[in-house]
Amino acid sequence: MSEMTFDKQYFANCLAEMARLTEENRDYWTKLDSDIGDGDHGINLSIGFRAVTSNLQENLENAEDISSLLKKSGMVLLSKVGGASGPLYGSFFIKMGKDDAGKREVSFPEFAGMLKNGVEAVQLRGKAEVGDKTMIDALQPGMEYLDTHKNDDDPVKVMEETVSIMKQGAESTIPLVAKKGRAMRLGERAIGHKDPGSESSWMLLNVFLEEMKK
Ligand code: ADP
Ligand code: MG
Repeated sequence: MSEMTFDKQYFANCLAEMARLTEENRDYWTKLDSDIGDGDHGINLSIGFRAVTSNLQENLENAEDISSLLKKSGMVLLSKVGGASGPLYGSFFIKMGKDDAGKREVSFPEFAGMLKNGVEAVQLRGKAEVGDKTMIDALQPGMEYLDTHKNDDDPVKVMEETVSIMKQGAESTIPLVAKKGRAMRLGERAIGHKDPGSESSWMLLNVFLEEMKK
């Protein structure tokens, strides 16, 4: 069993880094969405994460545990982002800490459980299955691997493999027809394009890995 632990500051650092990453990829994610959607995915997430970071220090100080920090941040995403991705990413952070109330520190297996809860919330809200050409195509296979390997000796290695599986999941959306979201309307014209949410989701969850290595 690994000794690695994750505290409130770790999660705040991740949120700040996700906001930075979002600014860096704003145009890229928006370009992907202009191919098969309405061209606002990067803009939506930028609005959301800017709002999250503008209250982050205050939320970090006021939150008595990890789950309330994540919940507050998720509520901001949910309320500030206009597109479909706002409620989905919002639910992800809101539900991440649902089994960990009161905890100021979690172990790697607990952290893995939090990510799984978050992805389950996305699935519950969006009702997408793997193969529907959504962020679930990236998130779900990663969570299956993570759940099986959460007690392995090397958490960084487990997260590296998890992220790599999610990245492959995003690639796997390219040849698909969309069965959920705006891209559905395109029918076969969506073939050949990567789903924007699958790309943003593996890249955002990669931040959890990068912060583990610091
Ligand atoms: P909108 O589609 O409202 O413009 P965004 O452009 O911000 O919102 O986000 C689009 C992304 O949201 C898609 O690429 C897809 O990954 C994700 N998405 C849309 N609908 C669903 C759903 N029902 N379940 C999971 N993900 C979804
Ligand atoms: Mg869009």
